[in-house]
Amino acid sequence: MNLDFFQVINKIANPVVVAKLLYDEKGKINDFQIEFQNSQMKKLAGYIIQGFSKWSEFRHNIGEDSFGYDSLIASLNEKPFPKSSYYSAATKRWYRFDISPLEDDVVVITLSDVTIEKNYSKKLRESIIKDPLTGLLNRAGFTDNLEIVLDTCKYNGTKAAMLILDIDDLKNINESIGYEEGDNLIIRVADILRRFERDTISIFRYGDDEFMVLISEVESRDSVVTIADTIFECFQNEHILISGGVSIFPDNSESKDELIRFADMAVHYAKKHGKNNICFFEPEMQRVFIQQLQLQTKLANAVLDSNFYMNYQPQFEISTGLLRGFEALIRWDEPELGEIPPSVFIPVAEETGLILPLGKWILNTTMQRLKEWQDKYDFKGTMSVNVSPIQLKQDGFLDELMEIIGKYEIDPEYVEIEITEGVMINNIQTTVEKLKSLKDLGFKISLDDFGTGYSSLNYLQQLPLDTLKIDKSFINDICSMDGIQANITSSIINMVTKMGLETIAEGVERPDQLNLLKRYNCNIVQGFLRGKPMNIIDCDAYLGGDKSALRTNH
Ligand code: C2E
Ligand code: CA
Ligand code: CA
Repeated sequence: MNLDFFQVINKIANPVVVAKLLYDEKGKINDFQIEFQNSQMKKLAGYIIQGFSKWSEFRHNIGEDSFGYDSLIASLNEKPFPKSSYYSAATKRWYRFDISPLEDDVVVITLSDVTIEKNYSKKLRESIIKDPLTGLLNRAGFTDNLEIVLDTCKYNGTKAAMLILDIDDLKNINESIGYEEGDNLIIRVADILRRFERDTISIFRYGDDEFMVLISEVESRDSVVTIADTIFECFQNEHILISGGVSIFPDNSESKDELIRFADMAVHYAKKHGKNNICFFEPEMQRVFIQQLQLQTKLANAVLDSNFYMNYQPQFEISTGLLRGFEALIRWDEPELGEIPPSVFIPVAEETGLILPLGKWILNTTMQRLKEWQDKYDFKGTMSVNVSPIQLKQDGFLDELMEIIGKYEIDPEYVEIEITEGVMINNIQTTVEKLKSLKDLGFKISLDDFGTGYSSLNYLQQLPLDTLKIDKSFINDICSMDGIQANITSSIINMVTKMGLETIAEGVERPDQLNLLKRYNCNIVQGFLRGKPMNIIDCDAYLGGDKSALRTNH
């Protein structure tokens, strides 16, 4: 190194140090000798650095801030030398080191002031992690904060909690009242949550309809319960329906990913159990969740392999006792779990979308069966098929149905589509139009499970129905002494008959029930008293004239 070289360096506008590297006994760089510093460096740090010939002495004298001592030493030990930046609390500015090799064990270290760049990227980061609608930090912002919060709690031995809040039925609100109303609701929820913000409680917009409340440095689970209760009460007072799930660090887990997953499971649990409540994560939920997943996998495989079969439950005209038709009911015999009832797996199929291929299989199977009975036994009855709301709403349902009945040359007048009130959720108008098209094509439409759910009489007028099925829960008590259920049932039958609809009583198990229904002029009976669901062998025998093939309660 000659004098010219140092003169050149002196002219550089950035602070520069020429350093001779020093090694520890393991051969790692742990210090350096300051061979030369330019005038900019002296200006910047002269009062600190002058008089010291080693970097370590310099560090020793100014304590922790030490001009990024650790990051500089770490960079010197890497090849090629990486750029590293650090914040100096002494000058309140950001600096970046650039290290270039000069000769063996001698490097030139250049410092650049990157404060403006850093502030800019901090602003940029803030704009990326902020949710524009509510002004809250978003999911990325939550991730940024989480580690610091958990580290702090770990350090001082306190607890932290994640509370995920999910607005109930936001999707329905968006679809039925409009996205603007949906947005307004999200803003209201954010405003309510902001009231709880403090040093130890941060709020994030976590997803479309999800918020995250991150609670840190609490002493006990009870404090979390109190906070969660207070937040929930606020929403109750504002008449906003919301479900929540809580996981607690370190009680439930020390892993941040697991904590998020557990809080998520707890929300799912809350949603499944009636919504509008907050659940705390329990290990049991994980078990149920895994079981659910296993069921989903098994169901997906069963759908792929069409591992189902149909049973058919007969329906009889009450006045004549003649066969009116059959309701097709699906069955699943799972090799490991045994027979799983449709009330368990149909909801899973609906949640996962598997109901679409499954529904298609059901239509194909039942129509093929109907054609066979018509050809073999001159069967003139109806085949009632349960159609899930999701299936009905799917684009192309009508085409699919027409294609299937076309394939088996079935006249739609022999096919009854059973729907539930579930079809009235979301896009009522489109659904009603679809049902009207079905009816125009000649299909019969029946409303299943009447008397459960909302059972609004309003639906009866809006929907183009042929048949009303009175739910088993109504029929169960019609013979009770107080006569209330009997009165309601007879009024429903009366009214519905006046509207020109046929009535089917479901789940009739006893003769006294049937007698009463006869008196009320109910048209059709379906229940264990007259016939349980039958497999195809029994159906064939029965339709072929063997009355003993009928399975009944007696
Ligand atoms: P659902 O449509 O109301 O079907 C009637 C249910 O009541 C059937 O149960 C039937 O076996 C049962 N049942 C009929 N009579 C009596 C009786 O006298 N006493 C008692 N205790 N029960 C009676 P299942 O087969 O277990 O079906 C349960 C539900 O699963 C059905 O209710 C329906 O909602 C759904 N489901 C069944 N098959 C299908 C299908 O192919 N597609 C769709 N989407 N859903 C189906
Ligand atoms: Ca049904
Ligand atoms: Ca039913």
